[in-house]
Amino acid sequence: MLKQQNPANFVHKNWQQQLAEAYNTIEDLCDFLNLSVTDLPVSVSASKRFALRVPRGFAACMEKGNPHDPLLRQVLPIEDELQFSQGFSDDPVGDLPASTQAGVIHKYHGRVLLINTGSCAINCRYCFRRNFPYADLQLSKQKQTAAIDYIKRDTSISEVIFSGGDPLLLSDSRLSQIFEQLDGIAHLKRIRIHSRLPIVLPARITDEFIALLTRSSKHIVMVTHCNHANELSADTIRASLALKKHEITLFNQAVLLKGVNDNAKILCELSETLFAQGIIPYYLHLLDKATGTGHFEVSKNEALALMQDIQALLPGYLVPKLVEEIAGTLSKQAIFTY
Ligand SMILES: *Cc1c(COP(=O)(O)O)cnc(C)c1O
Ligand code: SF4
Repeated sequence: MLKQQNPANFVHKNWQQQLAEAYNTIEDLCDFLNLSVTDLPVSVSASKRFALRVPRGFAACMEKGNPHDPLLRQVLPIEDELQFSQGFSDDPVGDLPASTQAGVIHKYHGRVLLINTGSCAINCRYCFRRNFPYADLQLSKQKQTAAIDYIKRDTSISEVIFSGGDPLLLSDSRLSQIFEQLDGIAHLKRIRIHSRLPIVLPARITDEFIALLTRSSKHIVMVTHCNHANELSADTIRASLALKKHEITLFNQAVLLKGVNDNAKILCELSETLFAQGIIPYYLHLLDKATGTGHFEVSKNEALALMQDIQALLPGYLVPKLVEEIAGTLSKQAIFTY
């Protein structure tokens, strides 16, 4: 059964309005879910370190009255975040040393990340961005010129990846301007967009946005970020199918999260539901060890056992690749099951 993500009063609101109306207090979100704040291990001081932000459409996919809802767990600031965990740090993936040129992170062969914005439509508690000064890396107009020059100069770069923050928070006009500049670079083959918006704010996928993608002569790849089948709805289906219809390749990355999706049945359902709406499972990431996220950790051994379970249940093309990011390496590190 697919839930209608948007309550009736949201159907006519555009994505900017929906973004502006996202929940930003623990109380409002709990009220909506018929949960009592005093019964939950919520932490106001955790929400001061990293604010609560949840689009209403995403909240509408949660089960009311369930304090253990897997979508709620991804966004609710709780006391566990204040606990110290051995081996967790503020820059676990080594992005700070890699950001040699403002706005560009060039760690892997042939691919550069373009950091366009530091903000997101949703604040995921497990995210490494929570402690990271992405605001300092925002792509101002001057930095944008420098970033484009960097890509032009290095002919080994075949793919530009819009990352962030969430690049789809940029306006269509800003995106279209960058796309036009990239279009002029002959050695670029692909433009990839890493975004959680097709899942958490599917209204962002407008006809105008799709038109700007299809004006590009480059192959466009969209990598969504969805961790649980409950995040998918009639609205995300509409957004994905609109992109697919225009030959945009769709992949998904998920993070393996304790209490959210650390279960073979849930992971199978995620793969099946993504595929049903045209999205191929790509990566399943081990958690990046960012300060304040220790309670989400699934050990490598547990992860490997889960992979064996799902491999026994799914066709090969629905099994995501289990990876971890290790600072200083030349690619994501695949973790193999034998
Ligand atoms: C994840 C990542 C990429 C993309 O890697 P793929 O394996 O091609 O998906 C590129 N650059 C950086 C810095 C990354 O973290
Ligand atoms: S970067 Fe992705 S995972 Fe992190 S808060 Fe933004 S949407 Fe969530």
